[in-house]
Amino acid sequence: MLEQFMFQTKRRVVEDHQAAQTARKADRTDLRTDELEQRIEKLTVASMALFSLLKDHHGVTEDQFLERVKEIDLLDGVLDGKLEQMTPVSKCPSCKRIMSRRHQHCLYCGEAGLTEETYQAFR
Ligand SMILES: [Zn+2]
Repeated sequence: MLEQFMFQTKRRVVEDHQAAQTARKADRTDLRTDELEQRIEKLTVASMALFSLLKDHHGVTEDQFLERVKEIDLLDGVLDGKLEQMTPVSKCPSCKRIMSRRHQHCLYCGEAGLTEETYQAFR
């Protein structure tokens, strides 16, 4: 009788501990999801503002913008709407094209001395 009581009590303690652990993990996941959603919203607003400025002040068309998005997406070699984490990006000082820092020279004009993009600091 006492052994059964002790066994059940121990089992309840273990189950409560596991339930609390699962709840804490779910809370952390919810928090992380909220942070990522906020980050996506900020980036979406920033992208819209950038395109709006480019369109209004420099006459950049939507097709030009989308072509540049595609070029940047392809820096990691895959057209999938994302960049491989920590892909270093450089800008050619001569033709201003963007490319991976894996390259020593610009693939378009052959220029050396590629410069790091400003936004790399935010990654
Ligand atoms: Zn170049």
